[in-house]
Amino acid sequence: PDPTTATSTTSPLEVLRTVFGYPGFRGDQAEVIDTVVAGGDAVVLMPTGAGKSLCYQVPALVRPGTGVVVSPLIALMQDQVDALAALGVRAAFLNSTQDPDQRRAVEAAYVGGELDLLYLAPERLSVPSTLQLLDRGRIALFAIDEAHCVSSWGHDFRPDYLQLAVLGDRWPDVPRIALTATATAATAVDITERLHLQSARTSVASFDRPNIEYRIVSKDNPRAQLLELLRTEHAGDAGIVYCLSRRSVEETAAFLSKNGITALPYHAGLEASVRADHQARFLREPGLVMTATIAFGMGIDKPDVRFVAHLDLPKSVEGYYQETGRAGRDGAPATAWLAYGLADVVQQRRMIDTSDGDAAHRRRLGQNLDAMLALCETVECRRVQLLAYFGQDAQPCGNCDTCTSPPQTWDGTVAAQKLLSAVVRLHQRGQRYGAGHVVDILLGNATPRVTQLGHTDLSVFGIGTELDAAGWRGVVRQLLARRLLAVTADGYGTLELTEGSNEVLRSGRQVPLRTEAPRSSRKRSAGSG
Ligand code: ADP
Ligand code: ZN
Repeated sequence: PDPTTATSTTSPLEVLRTVFGYPGFRGDQAEVIDTVVAGGDAVVLMPTGAGKSLCYQVPALVRPGTGVVVSPLIALMQDQVDALAALGVRAAFLNSTQDPDQRRAVEAAYVGGELDLLYLAPERLSVPSTLQLLDRGRIALFAIDEAHCVSSWGHDFRPDYLQLAVLGDRWPDVPRIALTATATAATAVDITERLHLQSARTSVASFDRPNIEYRIVSKDNPRAQLLELLRTEHAGDAGIVYCLSRRSVEETAAFLSKNGITALPYHAGLEASVRADHQARFLREPGLVMTATIAFGMGIDKPDVRFVAHLDLPKSVEGYYQETGRAGRDGAPATAWLAYGLADVVQQRRMIDTSDGDAAHRRRLGQNLDAMLALCETVECRRVQLLAYFGQDAQPCGNCDTCTSPPQTWDGTVAAQKLLSAVVRLHQRGQRYGAGHVVDILLGNATPRVTQLGHTDLSVFGIGTELDAAGWRGVVRQLLARRLLAVTADGYGTLELTEGSNEVLRSGRQVPLRTEAPRSSRKRSAGSG
């Protein structure tokens, strides 16, 4: 196909067929494209893999001039441009990886009207010379990819995105299309307001990923649990294992490799060349496992990722959805598996309480965590809960752990009262402790510390022998998830009472709790479940 023939006389459908070789549009693509071709603005919320790129690539080819695409994914620009070149589309990018000569060549091509698409990193648009450059050519449209980066609600806020509001002011006649795979109402509102897109056509696709099976287990010995999952269900499969810290990424990769699974680490602390190499191998070689921080994955187009595992609790449901969404883009069955434990909750609360930013920011982070915990502890269908978070309705799916083995619940009211009473008794003595010590008291463990502190004399000492330590930790975790108990900011996971605690203690509020799955075997007693 000769893309120079793609002028305003060519229809979007012709471009789709002749340039991209697809017979028809999917979902809302046609409506979005018609809007932009006609000069209108659009906000597009579609899950990963739904086909957002065509929503701006086709209009860029239909409208005269160059489509300017703002993307934070510098590492992928070369691949995107190469893929377009293979289709005969004239695309180029400008970013910090180029030398002055390369930049000048791209700029000349743009000014000369020889580009259909020009990819830019967002920080370039805060440079006056870039804005002046854009004035010297003809702009078909602006596409703002990964638009959730403008929202501080999201998991991936980038201050450079705030600059993008100037595009509409400076070029009021150029249509703008903002795209993201994030769909919470709060993020959508932020995108609309912060990018001045109030009159845009908003299009929201279904966020359901029916081929992904969601499973959330309580953390015992997480690496062993992961290995078991890989051996029994995903032998030879490609997948991603997310860990919170760089160290844990390295250790997990080493652990899997030692156990005969080809695994590579990926985190921001590695040399750029190592990261690029590991990413390329992951895309190219079959059956490779990437252990990574969340620095890995945005924009990665690998259709046959068969599992995404989380060894640490994601910070938000949005983050969880994004990360798990990298599984099964080919539509074949895939697993999203998460192991989480009490220590995750304590650690994340600490990170929030010590994070930079004002009280409102910390409150948002706290709300994000609460929603994630609620998803973990739900006794309802995970998918129903997940989609409800994005404001979308669903029926129980039959393809998540709570659907296939519905969790039993038990009346945890008395257990909750015992635990909260123990916290109250300690507070009455002006003392504050973490879950481990409180559980020792409930179990009647006369450890040196318990004895030394005189806690064997407490009326609550030994009143909780109906559960074991893991059982009590599960109670603590579930109470934390429901805000019937809290941990303080001191960094020690010290337990505090909440409004809800008082309701349980004084008004007899009922506390149904999830029955924990039995442990498969006796593993490390120091587990954090
Ligand atoms: P997203 O950016 O939403 O994650 P992409 O734009 O990368 O998704 O598209 C995902 C895949 O679907 C790509 O391989 C793309 O070529 C393909 N695709 C998109 N739209 C169509 C369509 N209308 N017909 C066939 N394939 C499509
Ligand atoms: Zn379900």
